Amino acid sequence: MEKAIKYDVLIIGAGAAGFMCSIEAGKRGKSVCLIDHSTKVAEKIRISGGGRCNFTNLNTNQSCFVSSNNNFCKSALNQYTQFDFIELVDKHKIKFHEKKLGQLFCDYSSQEIIDMLLRESRKYNVALRMDTKVEEINYISEKYNIKTNKINIQCKSLVIATGGLSIPKIGASSFGYDVARQFNINIIKTYPGLVPLQFDHGLLTDFSKLSGLSVNANISIGKIAFEDDLLFTHKGLSGPSVLQISSYWQSSRNIIIDFYKNTDINKLLIEQKAKNPKKEIQNILATFLPRKLALLFCNLENINGQIANIKNNQIKALSNKINNFSTIPTGTEGYRMAEVTVGGIDTKEISPKTMEVKKQSGLYFVGEVLDITGHLGGYNFQWAWSSGYVAGNNV
Ligand SMILES: Cc1cc2nc3c(=O)[nH]c(=O)nc-3n(C[C@H](O)[C@H](O)[C@H](O)COP(=O)(O)OP(=O)(O)OC[C@H]3O[C@@H](n4cnc5c(N)ncnc54)[C@H](O)[C@@H]3O)c2cc1C
Repeated sequence: MEKAIKYDVLIIGAGAAGFMCSIEAGKRGKSVCLIDHSTKVAEKIRISGGGRCNFTNLNTNQSCFVSSNNNFCKSALNQYTQFDFIELVDKHKIKFHEKKLGQLFCDYSSQEIIDMLLRESRKYNVALRMDTKVEEINYISEKYNIKTNKINIQCKSLVIATGGLSIPKIGASSFGYDVARQFNINIIKTYPGLVPLQFDHGLLTDFSKLSGLSVNANISIGKIAFEDDLLFTHKGLSGPSVLQISSYWQSSRNIIIDFYKNTDINKLLIEQKAKNPKKEIQNILATFLPRKLALLFCNLENINGQIANIKNNQIKALSNKINNFSTIPTGTEGYRMAEVTVGGIDTKEISPKTMEVKKQSGLYFVGEVLDITGHLGGYNFQWAWSSGYVAGNNV
């Protein structure tokens, strides 16, 4: 092997978690190198939040994450909170606002967050090397020797911050999981999360007629439920409530959609039958739901005409479709469209206080590569900041 450049810490992955880790380690006087195979830093931050980066959530707590080990994230989230990150954003005079439900977005552009991370990392002399691909990792005499396409690096602490599998076209790779396999670290099965859901041909044809329509809906799988907007698309269903539930969905499980916000539509229709018996049921329903959606449900139940002529058990069946629409998605739009990867490095293998692998001294995993997935709303970045901070203070 050619002569290696020595650093205290090498971080692989110049995204949210990798940058935060590099800054904290640099602050402690460590010599830090941050490498990435991409030519551009932090691409996911750039495209996040519709270009305005939903960088944290005021209400962050452990219940906002999907993981097979829900307590794991608690320590890191307490060590570096949403308020700590807000303080950093304030220090850099980045203007932001709360959109809804505690979600904080930049007023202008997500590039401001990237520039802030670049400024901070420069301040602490982090050596940033882009377009650098790791070819080999060897652990010899308590040191990591890393061969890349550009240079060889030797370090005492190696941090894997390469994220998950979503959006491969901007640099996502399985690198983190490959490193885990090399060191015999267990991986919890991965699948795309925060992703639109797809349906069989019949339902898809019906849904695509409503393409572009957005309604407030409550979607559940068992006891997990989300109430927010649902968007009909020509490929299936999307929108915040659908993206949220997708992180809990695995094939063959059915989802229940309440299209009328937890209100018993049967009661309303029976009242209308007494008050306005001559009114067409489609028109009555269209006073509660968008007309196109009302027509879809009437068609699905093969019901039309004056409400007086519709039997109560037919009204009940129609109402049940609206309040308890049960269906099994056929799949998701996959990693190409997913915002996150659910599953990942088994947190049982990692110290929650330091992010170090319990059985492999000096090896750390941070950010999305771990089996910690936030709900929609800024939680995924907060996890990246918190876990990056913790590792940066322990490398
Ligand atoms: C479209 C979209 C919008 C999103 N919006 C939000 C939002 O508003 N709020 C929120 O909280 N979350 C959002 N997310 C999720 C969030 O972006 C991620 O959870 C977060 O970026 C994870 O941070 P990370 O540092 O772990 O990984 P990443 O940010 O993915 O960074 C990983 C880095 O590692 C590099 N890398 C990968 N493989 C290799 C390799 N083999 N060698 C070297 N480098 C490698 C990548 O190039 C990348 O720079 C969004 C995701 C997407 C896709």
